[in-house]
Amino acid sequence: MTNNTFSTRNPPPSNRQLLILLGLFLGFIVGVFWLLNLAINGIIGIIPPSVEQKLGALVVPVYEKQAQDSPTQTTLNQLLDRLEKELPSEQKQGRDYRVLYLPTSTVNAMALPGDAIVIYGGLLKEMESENELMMILGHELGHFAHRDHLRGLGRVLLVRIALAYFIGDAGGLQSAAASSIAAIGQSKFSQSQELEADEFGLTLLYNTYGHVAGATDFFAQSSKGIAGNIDFLSTHPASRKRVVELENLIKKRGYGVKELSSLPETLKGLELK
Ligand SMILES: [Zn+2]
Repeated sequence: MTNNTFSTRNPPPSNRQLLILLGLFLGFIVGVFWLLNLAINGIIGIIPPSVEQKLGALVVPVYEKQAQDSPTQTTLNQLLDRLEKELPSEQKQGRDYRVLYLPTSTVNAMALPGDAIVIYGGLLKEMESENELMMILGHELGHFAHRDHLRGLGRVLLVRIALAYFIGDAGGLQSAAASSIAAIGQSKFSQSQELEADEFGLTLLYNTYGHVAGATDFFAQSSKGIAGNIDFLSTHPASRKRVVELENLIKKRGYGVKELSSLPETLKGLELK
């Protein structure tokens, strides 16, 4: 009864009541975003590699045109093959990864839908050992494993791709691919996505060499700012933190550090555009 008499009095809303309302409203908004995120994760889970490859077939040629079929690219693919052998079996299914080498001074690497990793000449020039490069390739494979390269396209595009796939609308997929090309260049990954890709790369590095020398070299160097204008850092932020996290992981897992393998000759003295 007390409750009832209280509510029928209908007092003017106090600050406290307004705060509760505001809290409920904010909670609702957070809930909606949470559900949306959950839905997007679900969508990513059900987009099979085959659809990704269809998307890739439209996206990859844009980069393929600029790629250089050269001894450098061949060597990069041989290195990638060695890492691929160490992938967990569920990560190999329906996949055939390859490297596209772009001989420009951009310091960057990226994962494209359709199993292609783009490596720019500027990034290769920064490499001082094979191990350092393998860590970066392993990191990119980590983005594929966690499907970050799809997430990076953004929610709207993902929904369009999923819809086109389920309706069987080839034209829809094609127009989504066109938008994807623009989105790929700008996609940024979150710090946790980067750290997870680093962890994935570290595991592959260890399984390939039996030790993890060179794992932090590139990030340590770029966190000191030695390499100057680095695009890789705009898409791959917070290098210092990544070095610390990797070092912790190496210690925790008891990974050894042995001698670095020198960079293959075909990756040295590159001529860039
Ligand atoms: Zn990354």
